[in-house]
Amino acid sequence: MIEASLVLKKYFGYDSFREGQEELINALLERQDVFGIMPTGAGKSLCYQVPALMFPGITLVISPLISLMKDQVAALNQAGIYAAYLNSSLTQGQYFKALEFAKAGKYKIIYVAPERLLTDSFLSFALKADISFVSVDEVHCVSQWGQDFRPSYLKIVEFIQRLPKRPVIGAFTATATQAVREDVMRILQLQNPKVVTTGFDRKNLSFSVKTAKDKKKELFSLLQEYKGESGIIYCITRKLVEEVYELLLNKGFSVSKYHAGMDDQERMKNQDDFIYDKAQIMVATNAFGMGIDKPDVRFVIHYNMPKNMESYYQEAGRAGRDGENADCVLLYSAQDVHTNQFFIDNNRDNEELSEVELEEVMAKDRERLKKMTYYCYTSDCLRAYMLRYFGEQAPDYCGNCSNCLKNYEEVDVSKYARIILGCIEESRERYGMTVILETLRGSKSEKIERYRMNENSYYGTIWDISMERLRQIVRFLLTKGYLMQTDDGYAVLKLTESSYHLTVKGETLFMKLPKEKMAAPSQEGTMRKLEKAQSGRGRRLMSEHPELYEKLRALRNETARTMHVPAYVVFTDRTLLEMSGYMPVTREEMLAITGVAQAKYEKYGEQFIAVIQKYKQEHGEEAQAPIARAKIRF
Ligand code: ADP
Ligand code: MG
Repeated sequence: MIEASLVLKKYFGYDSFREGQEELINALLERQDVFGIMPTGAGKSLCYQVPALMFPGITLVISPLISLMKDQVAALNQAGIYAAYLNSSLTQGQYFKALEFAKAGKYKIIYVAPERLLTDSFLSFALKADISFVSVDEVHCVSQWGQDFRPSYLKIVEFIQRLPKRPVIGAFTATATQAVREDVMRILQLQNPKVVTTGFDRKNLSFSVKTAKDKKKELFSLLQEYKGESGIIYCITRKLVEEVYELLLNKGFSVSKYHAGMDDQERMKNQDDFIYDKAQIMVATNAFGMGIDKPDVRFVIHYNMPKNMESYYQEAGRAGRDGENADCVLLYSAQDVHTNQFFIDNNRDNEELSEVELEEVMAKDRERLKKMTYYCYTSDCLRAYMLRYFGEQAPDYCGNCSNCLKNYEEVDVSKYARIILGCIEESRERYGMTVILETLRGSKSEKIERYRMNENSYYGTIWDISMERLRQIVRFLLTKGYLMQTDDGYAVLKLTESSYHLTVKGETLFMKLPKEKMAAPSQEGTMRKLEKAQSGRGRRLMSEHPELYEKLRALRNETARTMHVPAYVVFTDRTLLEMSGYMPVTREEMLAITGVAQAKYEKYGEQFIAVIQKYKQEHGEEAQAPIARAKIRF
């Protein structure tokens, strides 16, 4: 059998798996059930699509979201894979046609809505078909504890039991709570599944909170940064959606809107406009987003604080599914708390609840609102706050949220490092941390005098930073391996092989430190550098050849329009970026680009090569590409 990584390259054009994918795929290929719990954008689809292509028979993908099925099938077809979907968006005629093709064995992957599974028409196909694998996407829908319980998901088990041979089963979700997990295992009757949970951290997302007096002004200034890029603006009420939408429309933005007060048709159209890049910005209530798989959303702005962290993380998480950098900004004002409070107090959604139960629900909601509000107030790392809320451990500093960038600074600590190492060396590596620190600070303690450390030439040389900071630097040297501590109970500080990089070779050493009130003068330059980096945020996809990049984008967008597929289905921005950098002009070179697989090459490769060649001719010498990447063959 060919390897999964070759299938990945051949059909999807990717060079390597992401965290968790390979483990799940390998288990499936060994016919073991799997349960993948990975955050939005982690790449769950590939975990079932790759094995689907490797199994002898058919794969059924059960998914609750009609729009998502359509997009995924379109993407698979573009990749040269035979796939179809069976759901209520098809007319009776189309449905039976598709079933007929399915019976004739035309499709390798079939997406099906759960409510179809036990219908006579579907069973007439399924009972006779060779079904190798059933993959259940958004599997939290089986659980009443989840946010999106769907009774039709309970039919899945009965369906599987009726099949002549039990296929291997895969379950996938981004919802991690224990109650939901247990429900999935129990209700779907997974057999000794391989469970893979990847962390919930989304490193490519930068988080920030802005307390805004004038939100409209703040919004405009934010949008200046995102020219030509896709983004979502979430508002708390329909009325605000209308307001913000009008405002942006009048200012000439390419914008659409979405909320539950609009009719189905208009909503569908607007959603498509956004996915197909006809509208750049979507202004919406939280009704928008379920099943929006658009991978190149570069920003999600919350015009209001949502009601809890669960909602926030889910909505903000719609940014950057493609793994490229993206921003999540929350505009906070005290009024948001009152509005949410009002919704909680007047929530009569669930009529089955008794008065007492209702009180309990409200109390929980208020508690969650409080935690959400703390998020807007905290001066700690926002990512750490969020991850801890979801029960994960997290370091205090992420370097990619508004608090970290505000409260921490990158400091050149080389000078101090050299003094510390020098002091230790001169005292012949005999003492522990306390003695060294006291020596450097020039302590007059009896111990220091007894050890004659007051005669050390580094005695009293570090006085311009606090003791606490000095200690942090020593710890940093330990973690970075420039120093070591003996583990014989005395914890004596000793130099390491790396120490000479600092002392002799004169390397510079930077360290992230909480801001001190009085920063030493030498740190100013670094601060300025940091601020500059922040304002550029260094997150845009930047091409060395912007002109070529824009040409490739234009061709991509035009191609997508004629093919009636979203732009990213043709090629992602990352793929175009690589093309503009490496400038491939042969089939081989083209196939080495991330996201260019065989089927795509056959369809579009030559057109894109033509654009690159033309650019090269026009620009001659300056259009030099770096040496092409190692070619991957299969
Ligand atoms: P999920 O269902 O987990 O939210 P998706 O399956 O929709 O995520 O994948 C999100 C994006 O990541 C898609 O655009 C997909 O093509 C991309 N992706 C997935 N796996 C890889 C990979 N190994 N290398 C590069 N991109 C990947
Ligand atoms: Mg998914």
